[in-house]
Amino acid sequence: MSNNDFREVDDDGKEVVTGDVVETDTSEVEPKDNTNEENKDKGDGYENLCFICHRTESQAGPMINIGSGVHICNECMQRTFDSMNNFNNTTENTGGAFDFSKMPNIGMINLADFGMSNSQKIKKKKSKTKTKAEGEENKEGEDEGPVIDIKNILPPHEIKARLDEYVVGQEHAKKVMSVAVYNHYKRVAKDQDDDIEIEKSNMLMIGPTGSGKTYLVKTLARLLDVPLAITDATSLTEAGYIGDDIESVVSKLLSAADNDVEKAECGIIFIDEIDKLAKKKNANQRDVSGESVQQGMLKLLEGAEVEVPVGASSKNAMVPMTTIDTKNILFICGGAFPDLDKIVAERLNKSSAMGFTGELRDKYDKDKDILMKTTTEDLKTFGMIPEFLGRLPILFATQALDEDMLVRILKEPKNAILKQYQKLLALDEVDLRFTDGALRAIAKKAMERDLGARALRAIIEEFMLDIMYEIPKDDNIGAVEITEEYINGNGGPSITMRGSAAIEDKSK
Ligand code: ADP
Repeated sequence: MSNNDFREVDDDGKEVVTGDVVETDTSEVEPKDNTNEENKDKGDGYENLCFICHRTESQAGPMINIGSGVHICNECMQRTFDSMNNFNNTTENTGGAFDFSKMPNIGMINLADFGMSNSQKIKKKKSKTKTKAEGEENKEGEDEGPVIDIKNILPPHEIKARLDEYVVGQEHAKKVMSVAVYNHYKRVAKDQDDDIEIEKSNMLMIGPTGSGKTYLVKTLARLLDVPLAITDATSLTEAGYIGDDIESVVSKLLSAADNDVEKAECGIIFIDEIDKLAKKKNANQRDVSGESVQQGMLKLLEGAEVEVPVGASSKNAMVPMTTIDTKNILFICGGAFPDLDKIVAERLNKSSAMGFTGELRDKYDKDKDILMKTTTEDLKTFGMIPEFLGRLPILFATQALDEDMLVRILKEPKNAILKQYQKLLALDEVDLRFTDGALRAIAKKAMERDLGARALRAIIEEFMLDIMYEIPKDDNIGAVEITEEYINGNGGPSITMRGSAAIEDKSK
């Protein structure tokens, strides 16, 4: 509806609410002359949504801006006026005047509260075949190519090489992930029109806490430059119960993709703590957060069109909705699966006891990397449902980190913790060094905490606190060396003053 159309309504002879509404703070309802200006796509690629029917501009036509970022489409505006007129006709015994006092609580409506921010707008879809009508509108999408281009997909060895820069060890996991991701994006880039349909390579990653599961996925998404959403399975419940709906994970991905539906449809969703969805044993109540969530996720994992709220995590009348197809979204599920090692060991011990191989019956009980031998059977015993496992065809495990790996994690990755502290102190022009003994002592302490690499930062933080506090006090300090004695509490760090070769050992 253009401005002129709007006035036509005025001129129809119907008594249309205008200036009177001012007192109800709806003065902004009146269209301003600049309405059309504001309506125009400002070239940021986002479309306005009708505040009432939630359709986009491309579906409902140009919108009227009624202020505070709220837009209303022609149809809804017309309907609003029609219903107001009807209301007016029924008030003829009030002398024809529109009696607002009869409208409950209208004075309380503040349009500013309805402000629709950019977070609730959906990015315009790029049309593949330009039709005449939308030829003009879609100009800005032209320079962007398809979201995934088959020529630009990194081959597995390059994906792994990039992962190597950040993630220490976990060779098997990195290899499996690189191949799976490569295949997945080939599948996305390829036209799915022919007979052979490539199946989705959703993954299930098992591994002890702090072994780098989340870190692997984060690094992967960053190097592929695709949006990533990370969710905890513990917060999910069956629709209708307190907790997040299963579809909220897709909504998160949409916001990670800046509300760009096409980008989100090629993203990665990482669902952590997936082991918490295992079937509860001896449960007589309805299990709304375990098995039902596994059931509810089946469609999502396989590929389904889901209606998700834009810019919010829950559906309600005030939130615009959009449809997302999950068929090209890569799902990675991860979990520590406590006590799964016992299930695997039991199976393996049983089979080795059956064969006359002369192996010890408890051979696998002390195997640290026993989770690497997990099969879907073991996961079924754990409580995952077969249909769910069937939709996560790529199963692999991350290794528990040992002392050597922890030492390497401290110093080798591109953004290693040590490098971060060294950079911090370099800003004060102080050279920070760690002796090999100190690194080993830190790794030992981390092993005792049994939190994997997560413990490293906490330990270093403890020891660096004093140093970071003291160093800025004295401009003459040129270098600090963290020693094994300092970590073990029986000495202090070695401090070198600027311009002197002597190392002074300050005892604690
Ligand atoms: P989880 O397996 O519990 O998801 P995270 O991925 O959150 O563990 O790991 C915690 C932190 O430990 C990461 O942010 C990362 O800095 C570090 N980390 C863990 N494993 C590795 C690894 N193999 N290489 C480098 N850093 C690691």
